[in-house]
Amino acid sequence: MDPSGVAEQTQESPWGSVGPAAPACSLTEVMSEQLARQLDEEDAFPALSDPAVDPLRSEEAPDTASDLMLAQMLQMQFDREFDDQLRREEKKFNGDSKVSISFENYRMVHPYEDSDSSEDEVDWQDTRLDPYRADKPQTTPRRGFSGKGKNITTKHDEDTCGRKNTARMDNFAPEVHVGDGLGMDLKLSNQVFNSLKQHCYSEQRRSARLHEKKEHSTAEQAVDPRTRLLMYKMVNAGVLENINGCISTGKESVVFHADGGSLEEQPVPEEVVLKVFKTTLNEFKNRDRYIKDDYRFKDRFSKLNPRKVIRLWAEKEMHNLSRMKKAGIPCPDVVLLKKHILVMSFIGKEHVPAPKLKDVMLGSEEMKEAYQQVLQLMQKLYQDCSLVHADLSEYNMLWHQGKVWLIDVSQSVEPTHPHGLEFLFRDCRNVSTFFQKRGVSEAMSVYDLFNTVTGLNIPVGAEDEALFMTEIVALEKRNEDHIQKRGKKTFLVTSEDGGPPLEPDSDD
Ligand code: ADP
Ligand code: MG
Repeated sequence: MDPSGVAEQTQESPWGSVGPAAPACSLTEVMSEQLARQLDEEDAFPALSDPAVDPLRSEEAPDTASDLMLAQMLQMQFDREFDDQLRREEKKFNGDSKVSISFENYRMVHPYEDSDSSEDEVDWQDTRLDPYRADKPQTTPRRGFSGKGKNITTKHDEDTCGRKNTARMDNFAPEVHVGDGLGMDLKLSNQVFNSLKQHCYSEQRRSARLHEKKEHSTAEQAVDPRTRLLMYKMVNAGVLENINGCISTGKESVVFHADGGSLEEQPVPEEVVLKVFKTTLNEFKNRDRYIKDDYRFKDRFSKLNPRKVIRLWAEKEMHNLSRMKKAGIPCPDVVLLKKHILVMSFIGKEHVPAPKLKDVMLGSEEMKEAYQQVLQLMQKLYQDCSLVHADLSEYNMLWHQGKVWLIDVSQSVEPTHPHGLEFLFRDCRNVSTFFQKRGVSEAMSVYDLFNTVTGLNIPVGAEDEALFMTEIVALEKRNEDHIQKRGKKTFLVTSEDGGPPLEPDSDD
């Protein structure tokens, strides 16, 4: 082996090409102190030719030693440690809870930069689908920069980072139109990217909520599955022959037309309606006062969960209809009450419901007749049934076979209800206004109508509504005190009739 030949050769090394080896020397030379010093001074391990491979040790990459670079690297190290700590805290905070709170927004290291640091972090924010990541040449090497000398590009480089952010927009939800950002060489700063990301997340949540709401309301248009099951059961049991179309979808109920079958050998009317009280509670919330202050239901109301309160509405309508029927008021016959579904006779003929008073075209004589009937109905309702409709208007009166029929009495209350007289006053106003508008000259003013219906004698005077209302409220108050004194709250809903109508309190 020729040692001098070896000395001349440039060694190939997997770490790069190595420069000429130190000249061969004899053992005595090696042992000489002078040579030792000389060797010390010389670079016995010449620089690797590719500074990118190990830049920290490279003489040819003086910039790597720059304060900025070191500071950035230290900062990165610090940030990573901060994030590690954050993750530990997040884990501790969430524990085994099914609902966890993410500390993502507090992370210091951009997830992209961190994406290859550990498996956990990939899980933490899935960047596997990042189209940019697949594109190896464009990613920044793990050590955080590429290039050399003045051309060094760190992962903090604005352009690189901006392009990465643009590419990462592809990870936004499919419905987010991000456009061809890469094609336009769009560079998004971290701040912009993060706000966009945040916006997309909140949009997604919002649209999910909206979608859910829409689904919910369309389902309500028909009925929810539980109600459908109840309805099928009625058909199965033979109570109904067939359930036909929906007649009306109101705020609080959906009304279906159905063909009657038979119930316990008794025939069910040929045509019936199913009034399905909506099981969603929003609409009923503001109607609470009709029921929670109704002493007939008061005790039960407070104990029931909201779903069951809905059933009370159906039950209330049933009881009120029965009372009205007894007093001879034209109204639907109750057939069956099943949870929140009330089956009653159909007012109309051959699937065509009777028109509402607001829709029917009546001659002036007929209109006058209708008015007289309504006046009587209101009196009967108040005097005989001890009820105030509380939603009486041309919308809840049907014209059928030359008669006015009253419907929709789920909210009807007794006159002794703390606001009963106010409700009645409102009913009176609807009725007077409607008939006056329809040219019925006999139609009384709201005040006279109120007094006629109740038999009270509240002074009408200058027809000052505020004064009249004050009287009404005072009466309600006196009546409430009276009820308290007599303990009339124990009056049961199953009682045959509604008890005596309200009279001016002679005790006070
Ligand atoms: P809502 O509380 O939704 O107003 P209603 O009891 O007023 O409920 O019923 C809504 C509509 O359904 C009524 O305006 C009427 O057209 C129709 N309807 C209700 N009950 C009957 C019935 N027994 N016969 C015929 N149509 C009815
Ligand atoms: Mg109605």
